[in-house]
Amino acid sequence: MKKRIAILGSTGSIGTQTLEVIEQNSDKFEVEVLTANNNVDLLIRQAKKYQPNVVVIANSDKYKYVSEALEKEPIKIYAGSDAINQVVQMDTVDLVLTAMVGYSGLIPTYNAINAGKNIALANKETLVVAGEIITKIAHEKKVEILPVDSEHSAIFQCLVGEFMNPVEKLYLTCSGGPFRGMSENELKNVTVENALAHPNWEMGNKITIDSATLMNKGFEMIEAHWLFGLSSSKIEVIVHPESIIHSLVQFEDGSIKAQMGLPDMKLPIQYAIGFPYRLKNDFPRFNFLDYPTLNFEPPNTKIFRNLALSFEALDYGGNKPCVLNAANEVVVDAFLGKKIGFLQMSEIIEKALQKVEFIEKPGLDDLIQTNAEAKRVTELLIEG
Ligand code: MG
Repeated sequence: MKKRIAILGSTGSIGTQTLEVIEQNSDKFEVEVLTANNNVDLLIRQAKKYQPNVVVIANSDKYKYVSEALEKEPIKIYAGSDAINQVVQMDTVDLVLTAMVGYSGLIPTYNAINAGKNIALANKETLVVAGEIITKIAHEKKVEILPVDSEHSAIFQCLVGEFMNPVEKLYLTCSGGPFRGMSENELKNVTVENALAHPNWEMGNKITIDSATLMNKGFEMIEAHWLFGLSSSKIEVIVHPESIIHSLVQFEDGSIKAQMGLPDMKLPIQYAIGFPYRLKNDFPRFNFLDYPTLNFEPPNTKIFRNLALSFEALDYGGNKPCVLNAANEVVVDAFLGKKIGFLQMSEIIEKALQKVEFIEKPGLDDLIQTNAEAKRVTELLIEG
């Protein structure tokens, strides 16, 4: 039986690479659902090629265009975010790969878990915003959350066969992004174009900016906390500019396991959708002689404030990480739109964290409200 996969966010960087992995393993996987936000032309091409049963375009204004283009295909076409929430629950879906951008991944992921679907999680914001709720319901429904994020995939791979052995510490590796080593003064003048030029990874715009500000690493620390059930004091971020070691686990005997490989998202994608099997492939192999030295250094949290803010938000708890995420989405958009500078992003997030009302034990509805309120507050702070 082939594993039938719903890909939420099929036109993004993770979505397109997932389709490549599926194509190379067409005896094991088939595409059941494709969803996209706005990129209709690519969605239509993907639908014609991969012949899913269902396609959803989130932007309802584009429904007519998509349905006309796919008129002759035996594919059901729906529009709107409610449709995404429904199709993830279909009986014919075995695994939901969540690769939407930001907060938009939360409710579909929640619905998929509630319907008992295993998740290949590429949308880390879901766990940043609602880690407690998501991990609790996944436990109740006996649903597996398989990490697609390369660092968490690395940790997950290191933990296979170690379920009886407590973890002493996780080391999350971090490339440091394009601005590693820069002073505050230098960072004042960096441009959007500079920030979008990541040294090692090819990714979408939002996560590339998050990597440059280290917010991505802050989110990944929160993601690791929920996925692996460890307090923030047991999670350490270490800058490793070559991005060859994808993360490490230290056990109680002091032994450390690392997972290594070339920086290529297709590997963690393949591991997540193929788990527990390692599937043979012809991806380029790592050559030690190309990397005679691997380097490590501490992150500079005085200059890259987002990482410190993430630790603070997680330790404070409640709806703080939700505020952190919402404020970040707004400032990243404003930076991409050249309304604010690079360093202003952290300054504004810090103010938003103080301004939005604290809720100690938020339910899903509280988080939906917090997200909206934090976005409103952040927009006001940007306007000054
Ligand atoms: Mg990552």
